Amino acid sequence: MKMRPFVVAAVVALTPLAAAAQDPPAGQQPPDRPGREQAAPEPRPYERVITRDAKSKEGVIITHRIKDKLYYELPRAAIGREFLWVSQIARTTLGEGYGGQAAGNRVVRWERHDNRVLLRSISYDIVSDEKEPIARAVRAANYDPIVMSFNVEAFGKDDAPVIDVTRLFTTDVPEFSGRSRVRARTFDASRSFIERVATFPQNIEVEVTQTYSTPLDQDGGGRGGPAPAPGPGGGRGQVAARPGTSSVLMHYSMVLLPGEPMQSRLFDERVGYFSISQLDYGKDEHRSPARRYITRYRLEKKDPNAELSDPVKPITYYVDPATPTKWVPYVKKGIESWQPAFEAAGFRRGIIAKEAPTPEEDPDWSPEDARYSVVRWLPSTTENAVGPHIHDPRSGEILEADIQFYHNVMNLARDWYFVQVGPLDKRAKTLPLPDDLMGRLIEYVVAHEVGHTLGFQHNMKSSSEYPAAKVHDKDWVHTMGHTASIMDYSRFNYVAQPEDGIDVADLVPRVGPYDKWATMWGYKPIPSAKSPEQEKKTLDQWAREQDKTPWLRFSTANAR
Ligand SMILES: [Zn+2]
Repeated sequence: MKMRPFVVAAVVALTPLAAAAQDPPAGQQPPDRPGREQAAPEPRPYERVITRDAKSKEGVIITHRIKDKLYYELPRAAIGREFLWVSQIARTTLGEGYGGQAAGNRVVRWERHDNRVLLRSISYDIVSDEKEPIARAVRAANYDPIVMSFNVEAFGKDDAPVIDVTRLFTTDVPEFSGRSRVRARTFDASRSFIERVATFPQNIEVEVTQTYSTPLDQDGGGRGGPAPAPGPGGGRGQVAARPGTSSVLMHYSMVLLPGEPMQSRLFDERVGYFSISQLDYGKDEHRSPARRYITRYRLEKKDPNAELSDPVKPITYYVDPATPTKWVPYVKKGIESWQPAFEAAGFRRGIIAKEAPTPEEDPDWSPEDARYSVVRWLPSTTENAVGPHIHDPRSGEILEADIQFYHNVMNLARDWYFVQVGPLDKRAKTLPLPDDLMGRLIEYVVAHEVGHTLGFQHNMKSSSEYPAAKVHDKDWVHTMGHTASIMDYSRFNYVAQPEDGIDVADLVPRVGPYDKWATMWGYKPIPSAKSPEQEKKTLDQWAREQDKTPWLRFSTANAR
């Protein structure tokens, strides 16, 4: 399916956002940030701040809403821990940017200093091994900026500081605001307010309406004003705001990062993973190299000595309860069709599908909870599906993925199937397509999107690597598929002719030899290696299997 560059955007967002952070509104300094000069006022009794009107919810941070104010109560366990802050423009006024657009990810940390709490932005663009002497210089050069300072309003249980975070969302904070993305000039705090707060054990989701304006006598900030912030999406959404007002719905996720980062695996351009990059000053080389690591889930063997083992925790995708009942089994099959690929990496049932609990079974279950990856079924006329994920920028670990499956993608799959292989399948001669066929097409779309969320880019080379005669050969196609990867755009086997006698079950792409091999390359543990560098030799040996087996090769549009 068409893949919006969300994941790539997330990968590159750290750097452009640093530029956006240098771009305060022309000629004005936002009030109240960072810390004010005067001493913080004394905290008040808890009940005076968190009154009986408060709507409170326990989670990684306890949230309290009192009318239009939002308070965070920071338990000891949350202070000093690193969180991933994901900003997204959920909805915009028509013409400015587009909904669902990533507006940047960054790592943040809450710190307490007496009666103040600081929110710092932590950079992982530049790193070094903590044991190396240069680490001190890297830390000094990277002194983490304070995004905002908060007075402690009160103390909760266990001395947990309570702070008023409303202005973090309702004033123009360059690190988090959508203003630069819609190229507006000013932020109007009087027309900006918190819409919704959802609190979970590992994450907090906040939705905020933010209103910006661009004066009539200016042209939207494109000329003569401050340089437009580079967009993480590679220039998409760079639409100048029309003079007047625009309101956007910003969606902020703050997700707790793992206490111990996963061991990273080095990226290799021969294998099609998404990647993160860092400048590493701890390496014994004359130039500091940019280290690139693949994005992948953390998967560990229950029995590290077994060739094939159950995982400690399988990769788990939930099926959205909004999915029409008759399609649920096919969505599950699409997810679990990756199991053979994880077997190649040494994991039995490394990926599993589960039906989400009903509200009666678990009233607190939510697809927004960062503990759950979900295949969302969205009632939309969009003929598409997308597979974004969020990952730990310190290690590349994929933390969560929510695949968006738009209802009308079924129309697209139906049209393709009818046009491409209609003559080969009697079932395609009548519309609507029978459920078993439509189900199979849904399974295919889901499997492709799951592939993106497991870390895979498109492999556009894959469909050109089998000898042409083999794509007509029913035995070959039965065992190898007509394309070596489900991550290609090869769609259905339109090369096949009726006289080839290919089984209709083999006309649809599936997880193929490349996918299994690439999953092995990225996920198979290398127990002897204690660092990413120590894995290099093995990874290179594995990659060289491409030399003799052309259908294991990878390339894609704008491969990086
Ligand atoms: Zn795709």
